[in-house]
Amino acid sequence: MREIPIKTQAREEMVDITREVASAVAESGVKNGMCHLNCLHTTAGITVNENADPDVKADILMALRNIVQDGWPYAHAEGNSPAHVKSSIIGASLAIPVSGGRLVLGTWQGIIFCEFDGPRSRRVTVTVVGA
Ligand code: ZN
Repeated sequence: MREIPIKTQAREEMVDITREVASAVAESGVKNGMCHLNCLHTTAGITVNENADPDVKADILMALRNIVQDGWPYAHAEGNSPAHVKSSIIGASLAIPVSGGRLVLGTWQGIIFCEFDGPRSRRVTVTVVGA
């Protein structure tokens, strides 16, 4: 298992980690199998989506802000409940196939770390299993 450290710079941010994950897959030596990613945090998530147009990342954050609004009567005393809810909507883990030592992703797909309560130091684990 490997770990990707991520230093986020803003309260909400979408960080492309595709290159770091691809490096971890290459270092694992696994040619064919599965790459599992796990976000070790309750106010962040990971997703696969478009990497080409940065507006897509901004639109996802905008949509989530409208789905999960800041002004609701949340109970959680830490005051960051919207970030917790967004984390659960996006999800904390991904599994991506590995073929020929490379991640199997579509042309426009990238792996995106989603920060909802930054800036913080974050970690994503990468577990590559051969099949
Ligand atoms: Zn909290």
